[in-house]
Amino acid sequence: MKEFRYERAEDVAGAVATLAAAPDGAFLGGGTNLVDLMKLGVATPDVLVDVRRLTSAEVEELPDGGLRIGAAVPNADLAADRRLRERYPVLALALLSGASGQLRNRATTAGNLLQRTRCTYFTDVTKPCNKRAPGSGCGALQGLHRNHAIVGQTIDGPDGATTCVTTHPSDMAVAMVALDAVVQVVGPDGDRSIPIGELHRLPGDDPSRDTTLRHGELITAVDLPPLPAGTVSRYRKTRDRASFAFALVSVAAALRVEDGVVRDVRLALGGVAHKPWRASTAEAVLRGLPATEESFAAAARAELDLATPLRDNGFKVPLAKNLITRTLLDLTEETR
Ligand SMILES: Cc1cc2nc3c(=O)[nH]c(=O)nc-3n(C[C@H](O)[C@H](O)[C@H](O)COP(=O)(O)OP(=O)(O)OC[C@H]3O[C@@H](n4cnc5c(N)ncnc54)[C@H](O)[C@@H]3O)c2cc1C
Ligand code: SF4
Repeated sequence: MKEFRYERAEDVAGAVATLAAAPDGAFLGGGTNLVDLMKLGVATPDVLVDVRRLTSAEVEELPDGGLRIGAAVPNADLAADRRLRERYPVLALALLSGASGQLRNRATTAGNLLQRTRCTYFTDVTKPCNKRAPGSGCGALQGLHRNHAIVGQTIDGPDGATTCVTTHPSDMAVAMVALDAVVQVVGPDGDRSIPIGELHRLPGDDPSRDTTLRHGELITAVDLPPLPAGTVSRYRKTRDRASFAFALVSVAAALRVEDGVVRDVRLALGGVAHKPWRASTAEAVLRGLPATEESFAAAARAELDLATPLRDNGFKVPLAKNLITRTLLDLTEETR
């Protein structure tokens, strides 16, 4: 592991200033992802600014009836919060489907959002990977890519080649995208609020950047707007084994049905793209349709028509369609 300096700032402003002055530095949350990557030589920061005790570890009520989740709230505490379980079951379920109890005790809200991809070429420094070593190529494109993306990956790089086909790993982020969460950030140029759908990015011609955050920007909290009365929500994840595994495909869904008609629906998919994938095509198809299996399947088909699977991950297309349809049917049952 490369030598690095460990810093603890007095306050948020101090942490932001320290990192702004260290172009190769990084913030440290629970360390469950960053420290692993440092041991592998994938991440090589020269300064670590520990922010776990600087940002809030509380979940607070917002005046509009939503919740503000401090950046340092451990994933386990968030999943156990009674208000979250009652008002946003989709998020509690997503958290509980990720990692293990021990990891969730340590992992933070901000760190979870910013965890890096699990593509095995990314974590192996002897292999080509445009995300880790820009311009070196993408090992997964012709290699092992069963777990990789089926949508959003075909935006060509400067030489006309697809740059990166990996997926975003966080379950929590998928649920937050379906909930239209807002990420609160403090940076060297001041504060800003980022709608979570604009936080993570597609690879485009620069797959080294996972998000739209600028260097030195610190996540301080994530706000959840209230869901309209009568909305039910759920997270469902498919994976190769029952625990301690990342999603092959997952779906976060929130549904409001009145008189048998879909009044509102929010859908996001995990395991299918470089970012949590908001299924806006399916949502648009569904609004105003009868809440039936036929409608749900038609919406899922419309969304997955956009898919361009790779040689070995075509199975994700029917899997995603079935997962959307089944989850919405289950939610409809809940509203009866
Ligand atoms: C074996 C294993 C299985 C796992 N399975 C799953 C799974 O199934 N689903 C899932 O979703 N996750 C899974 N995880 C990942 C786990 O959820 C993440 O490692 C964890 O959430 C990262 O949080 P952290 O606080 O430890 O982040 P850290 O490792 O501390 O940081 C991660 C990144 O966030 C940055 N950062 C941290 N805090 C801030 C801040 N406040 N502002 C700006 N930047 C910040 C760091 O600089 C770093 O780049 C698994 C991990 C392991 C090891
Ligand atoms: S899919 Fe992305 S992360 Fe994986 S090898 Fe290709 S460029 Fe690297």
